[in-house]
Amino acid sequence: VRAAGTLAGRDTAQRRAVLEVLRRSFDHPTAAEIHARVLGVLPGVGAATVYRTLRLLVDGAAVQELRLRDETVIRYDANTHLHDHVVCEICGVVVDVHAQVPDTVTTAVARHTGFDITGYDLRFRGRCPSCISNHGPHPA
Ligand SMILES: [Zn+2]
Ligand SMILES: [Zn+2]
Repeated sequence: VRAAGTLAGRDTAQRRAVLEVLRRSFDHPTAAEIHARVLGVLPGVGAATVYRTLRLLVDGAAVQELRLRDETVIRYDANTHLHDHVVCEICGVVVDVHAQVPDTVTTAVARHTGFDITGYDLRFRGRCPSCISNHGPHPA
């Protein structure tokens, strides 16, 4: 019983640390980036532990998993409220978008397909301000 209690306590600490790191991160970090940041809170924590904790948080709907620019790169977002993203085509930075898609779009999709539309995933892409100042608005 004591061993189980200790394990649960450690799991809770890891969970709290990962969630805390994610809630302070607005750049949609990858698992490797999250691990590096969690090390600052829980020194010595292993990558496998952080990845397993992320999986639990995603399963528990506390965290969103995002596959945006590259389908093989999974990024994490502690903001589970409905919001969209804009992705930089050059550096891959991901920023939240809080613009509202007009209802007329959903209505048009429903009319054209006969579907009852329950949601959507919207991804904008472009060049972020720092890439524009480094490379100019058009790629060389
Ligand atoms: Zn960029
Ligand atoms: Zn987001």
